[in-house]
Amino acid sequence: VIKIEHLQKHFGKLQVLNDINFQITKGQVVTIIGSSGSGKSTMLRCINLLEVPDGGKIYYEGKDILGGDLDVTKYRSKVCMVFQSFNLFNNKNVLDNCTIGQIKVLKRSKAEAEKIAMEHLKTVGMESFAHAASTTLSGGQKQRVAIARALCMNPDVILFDEPTSALDPEMVGGVLDVMKDLAKKGMTMVVVTHEMQFAREVSDYVVFMDQGVIAEAAEPEELFGHPKEERTKQFLSRYS
Ligand code: ATP
Ligand code: MG
Repeated sequence: VIKIEHLQKHFGKLQVLNDINFQITKGQVVTIIGSSGSGKSTMLRCINLLEVPDGGKIYYEGKDILGGDLDVTKYRSKVCMVFQSFNLFNNKNVLDNCTIGQIKVLKRSKAEAEKIAMEHLKTVGMESFAHAASTTLSGGQKQRVAIARALCMNPDVILFDEPTSALDPEMVGGVLDVMKDLAKKGMTMVVVTHEMQFAREVSDYVVFMDQGVIAEAAEPEELFGHPKEERTKQFLSRYS
C-alpha cells in the first residue's frame, strides 16, 4: 500500500532520517522499534504528512504523495494516525469524537456517522461510553476511543505512535488486545512500540531504527531470535 524510498529528513543540522527504504504491504503489521531519538515518530509523521520530508519518495497505492496535488485531509483519512497522547477533542463527547471526521471529510449524514461510530465503539468495547465526556475517561479508554475514531474513517492503514506508552500499566493490555484483534481481521498497521512481546507476536515484519537509519529489518522470529547486527543485539538485551 505504501512504499518509501530514500526518505530524508533533518531538523537544522540534525539528520533525523537518512535514506529510509521500506514498504507496507496490505494486511500486514509492521512494527518499528528503536531507542529514543532514533527517528521513529518522525518517520510516521512523514508518512502522515505531519512533517514534510527533505528528500525521497512516499508512494501510496503507487501515487507519489509528495507530488503536490494531494488532498491531504482525504489522504489522512485513508492513512490515519493514533497518537501516544490520544488527541481526542476534549470539548466533545465520545460519540461526537467519532462522527466529526466522518461528517466533515467523508460527508456522511449524522445518522449514518452515528451508526458507524457505534459499531466501532463496540469493537473496542466502549459503546456504553458513547455519551460520556471524553475528559472523564481513563487513558486506556481514551486510546480505545481514538482507535474507534480512526476505524470510522475506513482507513487503509493505521499508524500507531507508541499507543500504550502514556498508559498506566493496567491499561496497556486492553489496548494491545484491541490492536491484536484488528491485526487478526487483516487491518494494515504500522506500530511504533516498546512492547517487544507484542512486536514479536503480532507483527509480520519488524524494523529496528538506530540514529536515523534502518539498522536491521526482518520477520519477528528472525530479528528477535537471530539478530544479525551488533546494535540490534545491544538494543534487545535491554528488554530481556
Ligand atoms: P521516542 O522513542 O523518544 O519517541 P523517536 O524515535 O520517535 O523517539 P523522533 O521523535 O523521531 O524520535 O526524533 C528524532 C530526533 O529528531 C530527536 O533527536 C528529536 O529531538 C529530533 N526532533 C524531532 N522533532 C523535531 C522538531 N520538530 N524540531 C527539531 N528536532 C526535532
Ligand atoms: Mg517517538
